[in-house]
Amino acid sequence: MASGDLELVNLTKRYGETVAVDAIDLRVPAGTYCCLLGPSGCGKSSTLRMIAGHESVSNGDIVLGPSAITNLPPAARGTAMMFQSYALFPHLNIRDNVAFSLKMKGVAKAERLKKADEMLALVDMSQHGDRLPSQLSGGQQQRVALARAMITNPSILLLDEPLSALDPFLRIRMRAELKRFQRELGITFIHVTHSQEEAMALADTIIVMTNARIEQAGTPREVFNAPRTEFVARFMGGHNVVTDGDKRVAVRADRVKVAKLNGGSPARTAAISGIEYQGTIVQMTLASERDGELTASLPESGFYANPFSIGDAVSVSWAATDVHELAG
Ligand code: ADP
Ligand code: MG
Repeated sequence: MASGDLELVNLTKRYGETVAVDAIDLRVPAGTYCCLLGPSGCGKSSTLRMIAGHESVSNGDIVLGPSAITNLPPAARGTAMMFQSYALFPHLNIRDNVAFSLKMKGVAKAERLKKADEMLALVDMSQHGDRLPSQLSGGQQQRVALARAMITNPSILLLDEPLSALDPFLRIRMRAELKRFQRELGITFIHVTHSQEEAMALADTIIVMTNARIEQAGTPREVFNAPRTEFVARFMGGHNVVTDGDKRVAVRADRVKVAKLNGGSPARTAAISGIEYQGTIVQMTLASERDGELTASLPESGFYANPFSIGDAVSVSWAATDVHELAG
């Protein structure tokens, strides 16, 4: 089976009239944690399913290492899909669930159970091999789902919204575990999510998608600090998109300076329309005639040293170096 960099070349998926994935090009270096990020319907799952071989390709190619895998059956690609934990077979114990794909491949029982035990050790589930899925917690089931995907020794693991069924606390814990597994295994993970927070926490590379296209690809810091377009700035959050002269620009909420109006005629004024305490920061919503609604965030200590109130008239400004120009 192939291993190496994954390359999508002009990859296209059409369902009848719908173009779900529109001629995307992407290279994912081997061993990368890559997140496909975007709103519902933008083509993330279709892209992932084409890489897995669960969906036919309408146009273009999928190349893994030296060879095109575009038309290979799923099991011959060197990829594996991690399915949601509720896709475990309820009547099979954990060890047999993990060994299942090797059974389908005709691997002898002793050998496949030995391999299953190795995978269970990898995800710290050795002591639960004899249990049924229903006898495990949500997080434990998730680890079994991971072991089940890893048993085929893939060079790319594909995960479609793997954390979305978990409660918020478990989601953050499992997120850290996924990252640790990827680091330890050293293989490529391609993880679909609509959560920018999840993508920023996990990814080496974030691929922001909208309308069947790639809008921007980069490290989390690149995508957050230098959003290429208004869509990326708004989707990543934490930015204000405003007009500056004849340009569309983004300014991070934590770079917006707010001061009580005290005579003078500042270029930008606003009224404070919302104040949200968020722990380490306090986030203020500002109603501005010129710019519409703006967001400014202050460190908690800074805010309470000189607090604002709803309705306060304020001046709004930012340093020229904090203005980031967006592509039209
Ligand atoms: P995402 O995972 O980003 O939410 P999808 O890849 O599931 O997006 O869907 C992209 C587009 O393709 C959507 O408009 C969706 O309705 C459409 N689509 C997805 N799967 C099918 C299908 N099996 N048949 C027809 N249209 C589909
Ligand atoms: Mg999807």
